[in-house]
Amino acid sequence: MYLKTLNLRQFRNYQNQNVEFNAAKTILVGNNAQGKSNLLEAVELLATLRSHRMTRDRDLVQEGEAIAQINATLERQTGVSDLTLTLRRNGRRSVALNGESIRRQMDFLGVLNAVQFSSLDLELVRGGPEGRRNWLDTLLIQLEPVYAHILQQYNHVLRQRNAFLKRHVETLDATSLHSELAVWDAQLATTGTRVIRRRDRAIQRLAPIASAWHASISGSTEVLQIKYVPNIPLEDNHPEEVQQAFLAKIQQRAIAEMHQGTTLVGPHRDEIELTINQTPARQYGSQGQQRTLVLALKLAELQLIEEVVKEPPLLLLDDVLAELDLSRQNQLLDAIQDRFQTLITTTHLGSFDSQWLKSSQILFVKAGE
Ligand code: ATP
Ligand code: MG
Repeated sequence: MYLKTLNLRQFRNYQNQNVEFNAAKTILVGNNAQGKSNLLEAVELLATLRSHRMTRDRDLVQEGEAIAQINATLERQTGVSDLTLTLRRNGRRSVALNGESIRRQMDFLGVLNAVQFSSLDLELVRGGPEGRRNWLDTLLIQLEPVYAHILQQYNHVLRQRNAFLKRHVETLDATSLHSELAVWDAQLATTGTRVIRRRDRAIQRLAPIASAWHASISGSTEVLQIKYVPNIPLEDNHPEEVQQAFLAKIQQRAIAEMHQGTTLVGPHRDEIELTINQTPARQYGSQGQQRTLVLALKLAELQLIEEVVKEPPLLLLDDVLAELDLSRQNQLLDAIQDRFQTLITTTHLGSFDSQWLKSSQILFVKAGE
């Protein structure tokens, strides 16, 4: 797929900016705080309706304005699409495809696919499980847009159940509390099972691809393993069995849930384990080795999305080249070639070889222009 144009209106520090892309690689160069990452973030929002910066919509809308708009034209094998995302300070969003407004987000997701790689991604290795869950969920949204809907349903039930627990934990005795909770439990298990099974399948497909990339980049016998560790024991991926295990685990943790007044069981507490030679990656190795791991994950994401959607997604590289050593830079650049349309931000062009500069479109970014 190929992003042809982008228009940013009242989005972050962009007042009204048109960009036309005319090469497979675009380098955005500029000093700090000029708007390079903001532009990549806009593309990421069109692809996933999420931002890895985890910002609220009110921060995306330009200061002093009520509304922001991101518009793009995208060429795919199936034709050209026009995508518009409207963001409001009050958090209400709307999306349109080819000029027609779309009611369900999942019909908008999956039109543009992109993999974002920034220095924040190191948190995948170093940070807590929430970041890894978010990463996996964002990938799944692109692999199967209906997943956005499934996740929303699960989170909705989870919020309701938590609110109920909090409200009634002190007013009801254990027996009546649990008979009241039964309705929520059933819904939690049904929607949670959908989340768990999809996460499991995605990791099963991603893990071998990432391990292969890791072996190739590190050029060693170190073995990267990615393992999905659901909060519910998962013997196999059969829906009825997962649901049963889910309900059994709820029973098991009933007393603890009453004490803590919150839901302790379900995919909102899953872990995605990253190990190298069976040592947790967080404890393992240098920053450089951790970067190698993240690079392998990102290349695996690219490859998996390409396999599933049958077209190469975009790659958004935010300031990462400077953080990789020369050999890893070359591995990355070789893997991209002209296969993936790539937007790269940098503060100086010095880190690119002349071949790259010659074949890239170079955009100078200054104060939101
Ligand atoms: P760096 O090289 O430091 O990563 P960058 O070019 O990637 O810089 P961005 O993160 O894209 O920088 O842009 C940051 C700029 O955007 C800052 O000047 C910030 O004040 C501005 N900015 C962010 N949000 C808004 C907003 N809602 N309204 C106006 N300006 C904003
Ligand atoms: Mg930046």
